[in-house]
Amino acid sequence: MNLDPIKIRQDFPILQQKIYNKPLIYFDSAASSQRPLQVQEKIRQIDQEYYGNIHRAVHYMADKATADYETTREKVRSLINAGTTAEIIFTKGTTESVNLVAWSFGEAFISAGDEIIVSEMEHHSNIVPWQLMAGRKGAKIVMLPFNNKGELELDKLPGLISEKTKLIAVAHVSNVLGTVNPVAEIAAIAHARGVKLFVDGAQAIQHLPVDVQALGADFYAFSAHKMYGPNGVGVLYGRKELLEQMPPYQGGGEMISEVRFSGTTFNELPYKFEAGTPNITGVIGLGAAIDYLLEAGIENISVHEQALLKYATEKLMQIPGMKIYGESKNKSGVISFNVEGIHSFDLGTMLDKMGIAVRTGHHCADPVMQHFGIPGTVRMSFGIYNTREEIDAFLPALKKVISLF
Ligand code: PLP
Repeated sequence: MNLDPIKIRQDFPILQQKIYNKPLIYFDSAASSQRPLQVQEKIRQIDQEYYGNIHRAVHYMADKATADYETTREKVRSLINAGTTAEIIFTKGTTESVNLVAWSFGEAFISAGDEIIVSEMEHHSNIVPWQLMAGRKGAKIVMLPFNNKGELELDKLPGLISEKTKLIAVAHVSNVLGTVNPVAEIAAIAHARGVKLFVDGAQAIQHLPVDVQALGADFYAFSAHKMYGPNGVGVLYGRKELLEQMPPYQGGGEMISEVRFSGTTFNELPYKFEAGTPNITGVIGLGAAIDYLLEAGIENISVHEQALLKYATEKLMQIPGMKIYGESKNKSGVISFNVEGIHSFDLGTMLDKMGIAVRTGHHCADPVMQHFGIPGTVRMSFGIYNTREEIDAFLPALKKVISLF
């Protein structure tokens, strides 16, 4: 079955509007994707029919909200093929998931002099939490570089691992270069040396089938707002055996078993890592987003986005002065580029006036910009609802903007 973007677009009324009197072209799904009516409807239903705080009450609405919340945990487990729902922790987003692991794994497993390997193509949220932890623990961050095509230099990885290395942190898909990293291969290298693997899946989960066990990820993180779900919700998958050894990240309600002034015992997994009232509506909305993704078919989404990527890349390459960053053979639907002599910010601002939403700047990945010696790029990113016709409308708009400089 092929994906029909025309039909899909009917689920996204937000895309059917004009911006500055021009039909909106939304090429910024890597920053945040739009939400279909099905997700909006689920949230409306909770707000109007059965909102209540979860886990703690006996009344009907709290019970129903709890059931939906826990059903979503099972949907996430199944989506990524985790072994058990005890391994699925709801967070605010990828950023909080990384911070949770950096802090808690750091407390449990990192001592002064230990090393963490972080790839050069990471989003700041998969760099800074490790730096904070390293600062606290007296550990060291070691960088795994990428080449000019935007592919990790995996041949260098074994040489970077020492007996001090405890963990490797890497993106499944780069938010700037689009590179799909060979996570299973990295996991094999890491595990052969007793090193754990943290995978940032923020740009993968909405584009590719993800199987955390097949990938060999010890931890895997993603955000609902990049997969057609609500903002303010994310997931951390962690291997049970590791999560069990890690201390709670935050204290509060729900994460405890018994509280005494003489000492507190903690709840079982995953609740040990979910202190306080979570984003109930958001998590249930994520459940609806997963249903939506599965209904469309992740393989179908992947085929559709790959076709857009290929088409747009070929057309863009014909523009004089065009430089595309990220030329990996295995790439997802993200194109970062610059046009010689024009600042990315100016390009993005003028495209906006033509109804086209792209991202400009460093994309929270300063080290990638430093690698190429540039201040920023224009980034177009595709989602389930984008069409070839939008690319056809984008190209003359881009050429017009270029001609104005
Ligand atoms: N990691 C990657 C690869 C991303 O692209 C992003 C967001 O752009 C993040 C992490 C941070 O996600 P969030 O802001 O949802 O926590």
